[in-house]
Amino acid sequence: MRSKEVLKQLSPYKQGKQTKDIQKEFGLDYIVKLASNENPYGFSDKVKELFRASEPVFNIYPDGYTSELRYLISEKLNVNPESLIFGSGSEEIIQMLCRSYLTIGDQVIMATPTFPQYKHYALIEGAEIAEHPVNEDGSHPLDKMLEAVQDNTKIIWICTPNNPTGIAISKEELENFLNRCPSDVLVVLDEAYVEFLQPEKDLNAVGLLDKHPNLIVLRTFSKAYGLAGLRIGYGIADPLIVETLDKVRGPFNTTSAAQQAAVIAFSDQDFIQHTYRENKKGLKQFQAFLTSIGWDYYESEANFLLVKTPKSGMDAFDYLIKHGFIVRPGELLGIPNTIRVTIGKEEDMKIMENILKDYQEQLN
Ligand SMILES: *Cc1c(COP(=O)(O)O)cnc(C)c1O
Repeated sequence: MRSKEVLKQLSPYKQGKQTKDIQKEFGLDYIVKLASNENPYGFSDKVKELFRASEPVFNIYPDGYTSELRYLISEKLNVNPESLIFGSGSEEIIQMLCRSYLTIGDQVIMATPTFPQYKHYALIEGAEIAEHPVNEDGSHPLDKMLEAVQDNTKIIWICTPNNPTGIAISKEELENFLNRCPSDVLVVLDEAYVEFLQPEKDLNAVGLLDKHPNLIVLRTFSKAYGLAGLRIGYGIADPLIVETLDKVRGPFNTTSAAQQAAVIAFSDQDFIQHTYRENKKGLKQFQAFLTSIGWDYYESEANFLLVKTPKSGMDAFDYLIKHGFIVRPGELLGIPNTIRVTIGKEEDMKIMENILKDYQEQLN
């Protein structure tokens, strides 16, 4: 069989180890997964109530227009309902963007390290990738990315706060960037962690859509909303972009359960507030702990911290996993000698801190 040539250079997504496998492998009872930036506080109780109280209807196809959620979000964000596109996670929207805007000979621009799916899907479409290393502090090299624009540049990806460095761009930087970027280059602003931003650092990117019809903003229910297992996310853009993406979108690409849950979750902003506060508290505590053992880290505006490790990230990962803590080694994220740690529950973080302290003492 003859697949696309480019697929020979790609490997399937390598997910973090599954909790069950690790339990078996290391004979552990208690496993804490801090590897995928999931919400350690779960999800809105109101979503739980919904699934307890109502009989599910699984034999009928979902609403392919995602009407209820669409109208809810369009009202809340004050955008045209036709400005919204829904996906099986925002990850599927990344895929749709590549399918509809990229072909052989096109170029895309992104930072490195950043969310790996931008590159993966662009490669599948045969595009060339211009990757620009993040600045020393882990921020996007926006000037260099702009300078790299060529006639064949179709998409520029900006992830803010950036996964895995956690650094966010400022409103001034974004506006400056959009004002200088050619208007026929699509700018994808991936705001998967927007709910974790301090309110004064919010970019109000949606407010920039009128002036910049080449912008699309991506959001997800997988992180702060805690619905990663249901797979639903959305994009906000000029209706012309949405119409283009709709041509490559599967007709029933989000499930009815995900749509229903997202409606309830979106309406429960108290849960998001709670998540925000707990995360900020946990982040601060963890940062103070790392400083106390002499470890450095990248500043983070998200629900994870990229920590600089004394030996390889893989070594710290191996030590932590033996003690029941799963993190993501930077070697797999393109930034060696780091680990990316999702901020977990306070009691779990305390246990992990003791493990890291022992690890550091053994190295001394
Ligand atoms: C987690 C994540 C996503 C995708 O999440 P979905 O579950 O597909 O919605 C997108 N971008 C970034 C930067 C992420 O970290």
